[in-house]
Order: sequence, then C-alpha cells, then structure tokens
Amino acid sequence: MIIAIDGPAASGKSISAKIVAEQLGFTYLDTGAMYRCVTLAMINAGADISDSKHINALLDDLKIDLVNNDGQLQIMMNNTDVTDNIRTMEVTENVSAVSALKNVRDSMVKMQREIASKTNCVMEGRDIGTVVFPEAKYKFFLTSDVKERARRRQRDLLALGEKKSIEDLVEDIQRRDAYDSTRELSPLRKAEDAIEIDTTDLTIDGQVSKIIEIVNA
Ligand code: C5P
Repeated sequence: MIIAIDGPAASGKSISAKIVAEQLGFTYLDTGAMYRCVTLAMINAGADISDSKHINALLDDLKIDLVNNDGQLQIMMNNTDVTDNIRTMEVTENVSAVSALKNVRDSMVKMQREIASKTNCVMEGRDIGTVVFPEAKYKFFLTSDVKERARRRQRDLLALGEKKSIEDLVEDIQRRDAYDSTRELSPLRKAEDAIEIDTTDLTIDGQVSKIIEIVNA
C-alpha cells in the first residue's frame, strides 16, 4: 500500500511522513533526499547542469540507500553517509534546477517505484500522487503559511550550524516553490483526489493524527 504525501518546501511533509510510517510499520521514503543526492553528486563532480552525458554517467554510478537507523533516516550515497551534506544551502539552492531534468527524474522515479514494489510505503515528495503513484490508496497535500515554513527551515539549518534570516529563507522557499510548480516535467501540484491539510497552526502530533485518522477510517 502506498500513502503519498506531497506539498511545497517545508510544509511539514517529512516529519509527518516519518511518524505516520513509524506508527503504521511502513517504510518511509523521502524522495526529496534522493534529488538532493543527485545534486550533491553533481556538485562534488563539478558537473554542469547542461552536460547530460556527464549527468547520465553520474546517475549510472549513483547508489542511494535510505536506511532506518534507530528511528532516524540515514541517507547513504555510494556507501557514504550524506544525511547532513544534502541539507546545506548549496544543495538547496541547486536542487530545483537539477530535479527539473528529464534524465534525473526518470532515474529517480524508477528507483522509487522499485522500492515501493517491495514494501508498504509512505512516500513524500512533489509528484507522488500525480505522477509516481497516481493510483496510491491515500493521497495528502500539505500546505502552510510561508513565514511558518521559513521558521521551520531556520530551525533545521541551525541544527546543522548554518544561520539564515527569515527574510532570506522566505525568498528561498518562494523561489524553489515557483521553480518546482512551473517546471515542464512533473510540476508540484495537488492531485485532484488528494486531501489538503494546512499545517500552519497544527502541531506535529496534530498533523500526524489527521493523516492516521483518515487512513484508519
Ligand atoms: O523535499 P525537499 O525540500 O528535500 O526537496 C528538495 C527538492 O527536490 C524540491 O525543491 C524539488 O525540486 C525536488 N523534488 C522533486 N520531486 C520530488 C521530491 C523533491 O522534484 N518528488
């Protein structure tokens, strides 16, 4: 069974998806982390966004493992732990352009479908309910006020030792959402049959309970 959770940047998808997966005993799949891995691999290799040959070679060699390590999701790229490295501002600023590329999307969607074919999954991203699993049994679309989203991102970055103003983060989130929603391939949008949840005034428990209640009903 697939539970799809889509929505814009920092709308509360990751934390909700992770806890819902834990409570239901499902695998949690953070597809944004996968696009972040490709972006990090390209930065490390100095690959230009227009160099599709180089990108294809990187994709061929790319191994991504999402490992559940005592309840914490650990992201492994070619056997190296990149859990923190994929959350830096450098990766964040480049990830939307990388995820708009067809070869990158084809490769990630293939991996996502393969993982989901073996297990019950809570899959979180931008296009899960619309493109990756349009037939998912449950689909949610999380939204939130942009200032609240910037505050959440600020807390996440501080934990990594990076300081950013709320104004800069609002700008970054809006730029990324605009890019993700207007791209030609698999743009960020709510599936017609997805249930929308505004998380602005919800606690994490509140977000999770809403999702669990619907699934259990
Ligand atoms: O969710 P997160 O902020 O980590 O996602 C990073 C980026 O990856 C998004 O801004 C988007 O460009 C891309 N992405 C995507 N499709 C997904 C998940 C993420 O294009 N299913």
